Amino acid sequence: MDVLRKFGWDDGWAEAFAPHASAGLSPARVAAREGSLYRLWTEGGERDAAISGKFKLELSRGATLPAVGDWVAVDLKPTRGVIKAALPRRTVVSRKEAGERERMQVLVANVDVILIVCGLDGDFNLRRIERYLAVVREGGARAAVLLNKADLCPEAGARLAETRLVAGEVPVHALSAKFGDGASVLDEYVRPGATVALLGSSGAGKSTLVNRILGREKQATKEVREDSRGRHTTTSREMFLTPSGAILLDTPGLREIQLAEAAEGIRQTFPDVEALFGTCRFDNCRHHKEPGCAVIAALESGSLDHARWESYLKLKAEEAVRGMKDWERRRHDRKFARVVDEALRRKRKRE
Ligand code: GDP
Ligand code: ZN
Repeated sequence: MDVLRKFGWDDGWAEAFAPHASAGLSPARVAAREGSLYRLWTEGGERDAAISGKFKLELSRGATLPAVGDWVAVDLKPTRGVIKAALPRRTVVSRKEAGERERMQVLVANVDVILIVCGLDGDFNLRRIERYLAVVREGGARAAVLLNKADLCPEAGARLAETRLVAGEVPVHALSAKFGDGASVLDEYVRPGATVALLGSSGAGKSTLVNRILGREKQATKEVREDSRGRHTTTSREMFLTPSGAILLDTPGLREIQLAEAAEGIRQTFPDVEALFGTCRFDNCRHHKEPGCAVIAALESGSLDHARWESYLKLKAEEAVRGMKDWERRRHDRKFARVVDEALRRKRKRE
């Protein structure tokens, strides 16, 4: 089990797994999920897997799908592994699923430490830090707050003090992910065998921190694989081993938590940026190469910061993706409503 220890396996997990071991199943950790296709880390390397029919049945009785970070019991004999069970979780990060049904969606499981990242630029927001702290506390993981971009903030000391007041027992640190000042505090959290994840709004510096922790550029390349019906799907890597021996989770699901708040106020956060749009020469200006564009002029004169403009664009892009998903969800709900109506009508006819 030495290989598994690198992925966070310990005596507690071994004990919980014992009944599955007697049933001939192997332990594995969920490294990524794309729809119903799972990527597992097993003792013998990475494997694809799907969940068993019996597991699916349990889902209708309130169980949740295995999430990234979960430990599962898998039958590895078939070419595609079959996940038969999941071990009880130590911690979760979850959110309420959109829609009326108040179902919790588990975004990641078994994270030991969650680093809440907040930029000491326009991103700094105590209320938001409080909300992230609430999410972490609810799920049982340890938290630490990282006030990033300290290089941009002359009042970092005052910000630290304010944040410590709202964070209570949770440690708060100021650092610069980009330049490395203060980054040695990361060693306290990114420890051998510990599972670590980052939480924070778009532009706070999570990718920059991930690269610093991994000591290299995280690969953006996607792997192409075949799902159970032979279709090709792409999945990104979501779980990484760090040089110090920690396990780092960076999943789109966790990153999506920030979207709820993006909806709450791109406008509130970027009033200066959106005010510029009204002064572009053309109403339909895309602020790209158009003549008379106020955004381009502001970028050139330096009155609008390039990084700020980038984070604005990033948030807008994420909001667009979210909008598409909402639309798809509504379509799905309408379809479901029709199925229910049809069933009721048939029932009434019979009566
Ligand atoms: P993410 O959306 O949370 O992953 O944020 P990124 O890591 O992509 O960072 C957003 C922007 O902030 C990028 O332009 C980074 O170069 C910049 N950035 C990140 N960390 C720092 C920092 O410590 N100092 C400064 N000045 N800029 C930073
Ligand atoms: Zn423009």
